[in-house]
Amino acid sequence: MARTIQPDCRQCRREGCKLFLKGERCTSKKCAMERRPVIPGQHGNSKRRVAFSEYGTQLREKQKVKRMYGVLEKQFRKYYEEASKKAGVTGENMLSLIERRLDNVVYRMGIATSRKNARQIVNHGHITVNGRRVNIPSYRVKAGDVIAIKENKQENVAFKPLRGSKVVMPKWVEFDTNSFVGKVVALPVREDIDADIKEQLIVELYSR
Ligand code: SF4
Repeated sequence: MARTIQPDCRQCRREGCKLFLKGERCTSKKCAMERRPVIPGQHGNSKRRVAFSEYGTQLREKQKVKRMYGVLEKQFRKYYEEASKKAGVTGENMLSLIERRLDNVVYRMGIATSRKNARQIVNHGHITVNGRRVNIPSYRVKAGDVIAIKENKQENVAFKPLRGSKVVMPKWVEFDTNSFVGKVVALPVREDIDADIKEQLIVELYSR
């Protein structure tokens, strides 16, 4: 009987790298990229990966990052356009803008097990920014913003394992797992973001 591959995991196999879309499963032995890191579909068993053209490589990198953050094309392009108007390196600006999405911040703080889970938590109104409920996953945080789990949601069963746990997070955010209050300490810079993203390829694609 064919083994069922979760749709999210198919995306990782398609991109040839872990996109961390399924929470705890991603760091366990059940991860499809640990068990069978090949392209899905009839050529999946082929040892040889198809060589991509320059355009194809750029396109794949963009797809990878879009899938990683769960952002659709229109919004992704807007990040690029805004980044290209700012001073500095466009690719780095773009990643920093995407990284500042509230759903990503909730994920980075360890409140959610994946970005998809984080988006759900934000959508359901469980998160406050500077004391006010914000239920927009794309909301952009600023340095100094106080991010918290809404007081009357803190006893929610989903947050029980988080209480008092030790979370590894990037240095630009902090979150206290006892009080469920955190802070955006600084804006994210390139070194805070996944090193294996080749953002220059995405910039080249959009500036064609
Ligand atoms: Fe599936 Fe997560 Fe592994 Fe990707 S990283 S293959 S989503 S378990």
